[in-house]
Amino acid sequence: MLIVDSVCKSYPTPTEPLEVLRGVCLELRAGDSLAIVGPSGSGKSTLLQILGTLDEPTSGTVTLEGTDPFSLSPSALARFRNREIGFIFQDHHLLPQASVLENVLIPALATGRPTAETIARATELLERVGLAERSTHLPGQLSGGERERVAVARALLNRPRLILADEPTGNLDRRTAVAITETLLRLQQEEQAILVTVTHSHTLAHAMAGQKTLVDGLLVDIDQDTPDKATT
Ligand code: ADP
Repeated sequence: MLIVDSVCKSYPTPTEPLEVLRGVCLELRAGDSLAIVGPSGSGKSTLLQILGTLDEPTSGTVTLEGTDPFSLSPSALARFRNREIGFIFQDHHLLPQASVLENVLIPALATGRPTAETIARATELLERVGLAERSTHLPGQLSGGERERVAVARALLNRPRLILADEPTGNLDRRTAVAITETLLRLQQEEQAILVTVTHSHTLAHAMAGQKTLVDGLLVDIDQDTPDKATT
């Protein structure tokens, strides 16, 4: 379970601090999916960075399965992040000189050489995203949609409890975006991970079980009857 309690984040400025998050609260369980939408500058990336333990809140707490990552030592935090959180970015961040299979194995490299079991897991994930035949190819030989599928497989390698996606369909045409959304949600459901995605895409947002937006530094529900509010 992910519990975000009264998270505030402010950045120092020459005058007064810029308060971006002013008491964000959120509870998500295994298998839940949530889209965070809202205008540029509303704090979506800031919140995603905090959920990803890449940035600390100014106040408030985040716990994932009972662990407050910000109470850990830097090395324990790095291990926690690597094991418990899978990241999917808009521009996928694949290594161009590494094969598709090697790219999926990247999260395993933090703990040494991948074991036979990990390689089997990576191969199985590539099958599940429909890229079994492409494992020896380089990212440059794949389409944008296929590269994003590799990023989905990579994010799931360590069986993370939390998957964070930042505009995962941002650079894709509509049909490919719909296919990636379906793949992402299918795997997230099969693995019973929590999925939080930041997006401007109406289609992606409404494929998630829940949709929220940031207003004045607070996370609020979007009225399901007015879906246009999800597109900003
Ligand atoms: P969004 O992802 O919704 O576009 P961000 O979280 O990127 O919003 O930014 C929210 C606000 O915080 C913006 O006004 C931005 O300029 C400011 N901000 C983000 N990161 C920093 C930082 N490291 N230092 C100072 N201000 C920042």
